[in-house]
Amino acid sequence: MLILPKFLFYEPRDMSEACKIMSEQSGNPKIIAGGTDILVNMKKGLVSPGHLVSIAKISGLSEVEPTNGNISIGAHLIVAKLTEFDIIKTKFPSLARAAAGLGSPLIRNRATIGGNIVTARPAADLPPPLLAMGAKVKLESVKGTREVALDDFFLGPGATVIKPDEILSRIVIDAMPPFTGSDYIKLGHRRSLEIAIVAVAARITLNAPDGVIKEAKVILSAVAPKAIHAVSVEKALTGEKPTDALLEKAAKLAGTDCSPITDIRGGAGYRRAMVEVLTKRTLSTAVKEAQGK
Ligand SMILES: Cc1cc2nc3c(=O)[nH]c(=O)nc-3n(C[C@H](O)[C@H](O)[C@H](O)COP(=O)(O)OP(=O)(O)OC[C@H]3O[C@@H](n4cnc5c(N)ncnc54)[C@H](O)[C@@H]3O)c2cc1C
Repeated sequence: MLILPKFLFYEPRDMSEACKIMSEQSGNPKIIAGGTDILVNMKKGLVSPGHLVSIAKISGLSEVEPTNGNISIGAHLIVAKLTEFDIIKTKFPSLARAAAGLGSPLIRNRATIGGNIVTARPAADLPPPLLAMGAKVKLESVKGTREVALDDFFLGPGATVIKPDEILSRIVIDAMPPFTGSDYIKLGHRRSLEIAIVAVAARITLNAPDGVIKEAKVILSAVAPKAIHAVSVEKALTGEKPTDALLEKAAKLAGTDCSPITDIRGGAGYRRAMVEVLTKRTLSTAVKEAQGK
């Protein structure tokens, strides 16, 4: 069916008004942000909210607030803006890279960072770099506000810990420690309008430009029901000097950390092999960035 079912549309101007509407569960209210996902699902008859609550007009939700190197990103910031802000390009470059490859210019100019997170697709582009950076999300309802580490947010495909009356208001990323580098690479059949076959995000923090790896975060995407940490890789890297041989050896472990499926876009064996290749490449870039090269 291509016609949208009937619904009531709300456009609150502040969070308290939005939370109040979301608390009235009789209308089965749902947030609409960019609408690139929910409108498609409504047309397909997969969801049929009686009330759609837009967060577009809520002050501050489409802005980035830098404070002492930390950033707090409003959930309604469109994906295209993540590629434009200097603070994101310079301090959190892997997030800017992931945003640049999401969908197409049309999608990037409608889809929001909050919507990309809440949708919880196993191959979504923004969660991997955000997970690698230890991001947190702020969830608000009439009952109060809670902050949840993104590591604890996703439960599985399309499933998160967000409650029906909660609104994701902000994404908070702490300033990265000195000597940190990061990267994100997405593999697809095409450059545009392509959901990842495999994607990897890496973040490396050294104890000095020529020192050992103090902290390693490697996130594998589209190879498990949700984006996951490559735990063996992270363990193998920590405390070690980042030589090419070490990165090669650690990247090989990434294939054992995931559980890819075979589908129309790629076989499980191919995905596993590509996870290893992309892990090596993202680690190399992250290490070079951390060394200031
Ligand atoms: C042609 C096309 C190509 C695409 N390509 C890609 C791609 O390459 N990579 C990729 O990752 N995704 C891709 N997507 C998916 C999609 O664009 C994203 O998931 C998008 O980021 C969703 O954001 P939105 O603002 O449009 O969310 P909406 O559609 O407005 O909402 C999506 C869901 O999240 C909920 N929601 C949204 N914001 C909030 C909030 N702040 N608090 C609580 N709940 C909220 C809504 O209720 C709804 O259930 C593509 C989609 C299309 C149509």
